[in-house]
Amino acid sequence: MRDIKDFTLEELEGVLKGRGLPAFHAKQIFSWVYKKGASDFLQMSDLPAPLRKRLKEDFYIYTCEVARELKSIDGTEKLLFKLKDKNYIEGVIIPAEGRITGCVSSQIGCKFACSFCASGLAGFKRNLTAGEILEQVLFLKTYAPENKLTHIVFMGTGEPFDNYDNVMKAARIINSEYAFNIGARRISISTNGVVPGIEKLAAEKLQLELSVSLHAAFDKTRSALMPINKKYPLKELLSACKDYIKKTGRLVTFEYILIKGVNSGLKDAKNLSKMLKGLRLYKINLIPANAIKELNIYPPNNPDILIFRSQLFKQGLNAILRKSRGQDIEAACGQLRFKIENETINRKA
Ligand code: SAH
Repeated sequence: MRDIKDFTLEELEGVLKGRGLPAFHAKQIFSWVYKKGASDFLQMSDLPAPLRKRLKEDFYIYTCEVARELKSIDGTEKLLFKLKDKNYIEGVIIPAEGRITGCVSSQIGCKFACSFCASGLAGFKRNLTAGEILEQVLFLKTYAPENKLTHIVFMGTGEPFDNYDNVMKAARIINSEYAFNIGARRISISTNGVVPGIEKLAAEKLQLELSVSLHAAFDKTRSALMPINKKYPLKELLSACKDYIKKTGRLVTFEYILIKGVNSGLKDAKNLSKMLKGLRLYKINLIPANAIKELNIYPPNNPDILIFRSQLFKQGLNAILRKSRGQDIEAACGQLRFKIENETINRKA
């Protein structure tokens, strides 16, 4: 048995053709799975009965279940999924003015060990399949207000560029007019700075939004926060971003979390503006870090945050101060910690 969601439209057409069946059934199947949310092939009333039966024998549609649903007072909602192999992952629904964003995980755990992020606390288990990524989208859509998602961000647990092929396959299906039909500009990939991933994305036909987790303006600070910086230091990372911008004409968003006593001083702000000066098409989001007690990570006080931002303004940088959502349910950036949830659940069971 295979997960039907691991097949692109073209692959599914190939499977049908290989069985001597008309390729157009693939579009019908896509529509049932992604648009109508069918959970059983037998529901697919416009397919010939023998095909429905055959599909049911060969494929799964759903492979995981929602183990828990947590709602924040700000409207953010977190879903904990139990996968077929009993691992847990998380996805988040973030309603905001005029948009409803689904935030998905790309891996079970994370191997990159950023010192401020809870996602890697329990280590790395495995990559998610394209089908498992898409299943998060299906469930998030079902649980979202009016069953609607307008944007998808790969900002849950994991490093999307460390699972490049499955992430891109899922993104193509999210974008497909026969599936979720969410525009490429509404699908964001966030990377911690895996340079080959940025280079590959720049060469793709499907040009998604690229977010780069910068978080420091000095190599020494960044390497201490994000071990990936030792492999791809700032100069290399920014040069890859420059090439990406040149090649695609698209914007890059830089994320900069402000951590008390670490990267949020005046000298950091000054160097950050110096560093980004040469890049034309970018925007920068400043995010006060979500406190992670186990990691001794705290946001700066408000006055320090404002001083940091005004220093960037002074240098002509347009930095947007972001509010973090879903903090009360640990659904905010870097707070997803499936393994701990997992243990809690096991203890309770
Ligand atoms: N691995 C990818 C995507 C997942 S994390 C990446 O690093 O971009 C999504 C975002 O949450 C990243 O920008 C990450 O740096 C940020 N994040 C992690 N821990 C955080 C924390 N404690 N407070 C605020 N943001 C955090």
